[in-house]
Amino acid sequence: MKSVLEADIEQDYGEDPTEIRETDKYVEEYVHKFVNKWDELIDWDGRAEAEGNFFIELLRSHGAKKVLDAATGTGYHSVQLLEAGFEVTSADGSPAMLAKSFENARKRGHILRTVHADWRYLNRSVHDLYDAVICLGNSFTHIHNENDRRKSLAEYYATLRHDGILIMDHRNYDAILDNQAKPKRNYYYGGDQVTATPDYVDESLARFKYSFQDGEEFFLNMFPLRTEYVRGLMKEVGFQTVTTYGDFQEHYKDSEPDFFVHVASKKYIEQEN
Ligand code: SAM
Repeated sequence: MKSVLEADIEQDYGEDPTEIRETDKYVEEYVHKFVNKWDELIDWDGRAEAEGNFFIELLRSHGAKKVLDAATGTGYHSVQLLEAGFEVTSADGSPAMLAKSFENARKRGHILRTVHADWRYLNRSVHDLYDAVICLGNSFTHIHNENDRRKSLAEYYATLRHDGILIMDHRNYDAILDNQAKPKRNYYYGGDQVTATPDYVDESLARFKYSFQDGEEFFLNMFPLRTEYVRGLMKEVGFQTVTTYGDFQEHYKDSEPDFFVHVASKKYIEQEN
């Protein structure tokens, strides 16, 4: 009998895939077949080399010890942070992803503390306070409407201690939308078994195709997050400061990075009137 992770369920985008712009879709998009291939797509060694200790040092520099990985996926950052000595809780809205992350962590000698939670209702399932919430690997882009984006950010905010930080990344969609994309490096899609390319793009949809060397193809329909828009939303829900890095560097030209990382801090800053 096939295990849960081997079940043959196909992705289904209906007759016009570019019509699918729903936040709830992510659970179906990560069909087991795709999840199982995700580790080929996200090459852990290549990723470790590209990211270095960026997130570990960032968390340490903010004194963070207790971290909620809100978009665990197959578990890369949860495992990396556990090995660096952080206390980690691993959440995701996809049961298939959580099962895969648990299996991956166990192979490396860790038992993940997993929580099945959709970001929009995070605090229904997560009843603790954290020094940091991380939402990495171009995950927030799965939310297709603004109300859900605001609600999710508010849920992250609520689960942070008074001086906690949110670390979130996304692709350089400005460059993709404005046709300036110059992909130079492949931070997240490091494996040479797969290519990730935009299949269709407009102001409210970025449909990416993931082509594997064995001929299999999968898709993800995502919302193209513009950088200033994300920074603005973070401030609107109450984060006091947002620092943005381009490909892990503090100084960059807007069109050049492949990915942006935002660090939003909750620590209150008194404004002079
Ligand atoms: N952080 C991982 C990484 O870097 O490899 C996973 C990235 S994967 C692109 C996006 C993850 O976000 C998936 O595991 C998906 O299930 C999760 N996700 C998307 N929308 C979600 C939501 N509304 N609530 C909870 N998890 C969600």
